[in-house]
Amino acid sequence: MSARGQASAGELLELVRSGRAVTRGALQQATGLSRATVGQRLDRLFRAGWLREGAGGPVGSPLGGRPAITLEFDDAHAVVLAADLETRHARAAVLSLTGEILAEHSGTLVVEDGPEAVLGDLGHWFAELLEKAGRRAEEVCGIGLAVPGPVDSETGRVVQPPIMPGWDGYDIRGRLARAFSEHTGAPTVPVLVDNDANLMAYGEQRTGYPRCSAFVLVKVSTGIGAGVVVDGSVYRGIDGGAGDIGHIRVGADAQCRCGSYGCLAAVASGGAVARRLAEAGVPAASGSDVRDLLASGHPGAAALAREAGRQVGDVLATVVTLLNPGVLMIAGDLAGTPFLTGVRELLYQRALPRSTAHLDVVTSRLGERAGLIGAGALVVEHLYAPERVEERLVGMGV
Ligand SMILES: [Zn+2]
Repeated sequence: MSARGQASAGELLELVRSGRAVTRGALQQATGLSRATVGQRLDRLFRAGWLREGAGGPVGSPLGGRPAITLEFDDAHAVVLAADLETRHARAAVLSLTGEILAEHSGTLVVEDGPEAVLGDLGHWFAELLEKAGRRAEEVCGIGLAVPGPVDSETGRVVQPPIMPGWDGYDIRGRLARAFSEHTGAPTVPVLVDNDANLMAYGEQRTGYPRCSAFVLVKVSTGIGAGVVVDGSVYRGIDGGAGDIGHIRVGADAQCRCGSYGCLAAVASGGAVARRLAEAGVPAASGSDVRDLLASGHPGAAALAREAGRQVGDVLATVVTLLNPGVLMIAGDLAGTPFLTGVRELLYQRALPRSTAHLDVVTSRLGERAGLIGAGALVVEHLYAPERVEERLVGMGV
């Protein structure tokens, strides 16, 4: 926040969106701006269509006097597109600015086919989804994309992704922006790209645990990755590598898709469990096959999932000791009772009691939509951040 008495229109919008100040009087109090200046800045936000008067009508003032009109973020002026890529499957949606899914599609999309083809297909999906949602492409303010690999958030490019051959260093933002434009005829829009576990963590933390200041999500599907949200922001490390726990060596001799031996993902991921089931004659080729077997109560799958949980739990003891999170969420294909039991066994055995005393170990609340919701929220937080609002208002001629 700027010095008292200098808050920008973007900072006023932020106060309203967060619910910290939702009347003119509260905004004056929070910022130290005069009544007239608050009025001028709000006027610009009204003209942009970004603010409206609350549907609930006036509220009583805590100081007595006339009831005050509440203000709220007007989420009807734009929509966001989001997509979540898995190795052989993708999910895409049109979302409102407040995170409601307006239209959704999921289907086969094979990451190994390469970025040119996959992102081109996503452009086509987006055009169809907008039609389904009854929204115009010109209403789209931005696109968020979750990918199963480490992402440098400065460039939006993936960096040596073990399970995304052909994507290393590719200009994902540029290609997806172009694909959107080609398939809809609308001008290009900003594209944000992040790792899937990061975006799942962001989506889950914001919707389910907004007060949790240290939140960790571990995704166990074809690979294993973790997302960390600290004080409401994704913690990415210096170049997007934070949370990439799947390639910690745990000492076994199984070869990993990254080329090394003994990685956690090579012994405890959905892919690793599927391989072991297949060796025992049970038809399984992927994390989602394991999920189906677990759902049907297959005893062999349950035993292997529990053992995988123990191996992941051992690594998570270190994670929890380092970060002292309030919530540790297990998500992805293996997130269910046998795996969670295994995680708890080793986690509580290996971590200091001090670091788990206030820890909740939980499973996903948003399920397969977590990545989409996180991707949508990332775009909205980026575009309506105080430092970007001024530039966008000027760009709109407001
Ligand atoms: Zn590896």
